[in-house]
Amino acid sequence: MADGWRPLPFREFVLKIHSRCDLACDYCYMYTMADQSWRLQPRQMPRTVVDQAAARIGEHAHSHGLTQVKLILHGGEPLLAGTDFITYAVGAAREAAGPGTRVDVVVQTNGLGLDHGYLELLARLGVRVGVSIDGNAAAHDRRRKHPNGLGSHAGVAAALRRLDGHPQRGDLFGGLLATIDVRNDPIAVYEALLTFNPPMIDLLLPHGNWTAPPPGRVPGSPETPYADWLITVFDRWYQAAPRETNVRLFTELMHVILGGTSGTESVGLSPTAVAVIQTDGTIEQSDVLKSAYPGAPLTGLHVARDQLDAALAHPAVAARQLGIRALCDDCLSCPVHRVCGAGHYAHRYLAGRGFLGPSVYCPDLLKLISHVQAVMAADIAALANGRA
Ligand code: SF4
Repeated sequence: MADGWRPLPFREFVLKIHSRCDLACDYCYMYTMADQSWRLQPRQMPRTVVDQAAARIGEHAHSHGLTQVKLILHGGEPLLAGTDFITYAVGAAREAAGPGTRVDVVVQTNGLGLDHGYLELLARLGVRVGVSIDGNAAAHDRRRKHPNGLGSHAGVAAALRRLDGHPQRGDLFGGLLATIDVRNDPIAVYEALLTFNPPMIDLLLPHGNWTAPPPGRVPGSPETPYADWLITVFDRWYQAAPRETNVRLFTELMHVILGGTSGTESVGLSPTAVAVIQTDGTIEQSDVLKSAYPGAPLTGLHVARDQLDAALAHPAVAARQLGIRALCDDCLSCPVHRVCGAGHYAHRYLAGRGFLGPSVYCPDLLKLISHVQAVMAADIAALANGRA
């Protein structure tokens, strides 16, 4: 491009190995929001597609000199693909990458299928496990239900106890992923998650946008239910000594406040580095865009015929690599724009306007970031004055 901008290579590859799930969570962006394309996907990724995807990832890593990439086995529910399939997929990706590129594999699961056999297999393959759980039983079962309407907390908690007690727990346990529901008590949720001794907790804002707002958020309202919830957890987490776990959103915010770059799509101005390979082999942008409108993540590309570099050249991917140049005027004049980055790309969507605008969570993000900045500034000032 004329100003010297060049796309950055993808470093994370989400492989949607199984398109169905054994839970029926009522907030799932895949099954309950705007895009319903999962209905057209094969249940399971064919092995030919696994081979093509692995070859494209290897090709991308080699052509960009990447010595390390991340492969995320995703769904639907990826463990429904079965142990043989997962063994095959991990082997194919590592073989195609070759000895010059390390492939770190993570499986993101609802936990229900995480039995002893799976834990042994994942430990043997060197695959880390991320488990979705929304807190204590009351909080979790409010929305993460079996298709028959019963809550799933008991099964997930049992799996997490197996994971926590595994002799290779340190290598296996990647962390917990919890979607926020502001009706749940924040401290009770956080402390329930801590009982599983997670190395990391990811607290996710529920997906939504200006056209289909998240629960409890009235677009444009100055109310800040999500900031208030998160600040309560932040203060509890920040003041604990020693530190109990890594809460990714908070450590990312603190890192960016101190001048670093963000490693998450939720905040900051870091360019997107994630490519999604659908169950049928189509190459897509972030899956979460399914929450905006039907077809939002599509690129028109397929691993059978297209290199991943072609996705880098897609205008929508390029727009997500522009950093500050992709922010609207309102965000550019905001005091926290470098830290916030207009939040998650999917949360900026408004029908008719697209993604050029502030996040639907704008007041929450401003309040949360301002709070974290103020707490850090006070601590730094105390340190400078020899009071900490
Ligand atoms: S807080 Fe609001 S205005 Fe500021 S950068 Fe974030 S979304 Fe934009």
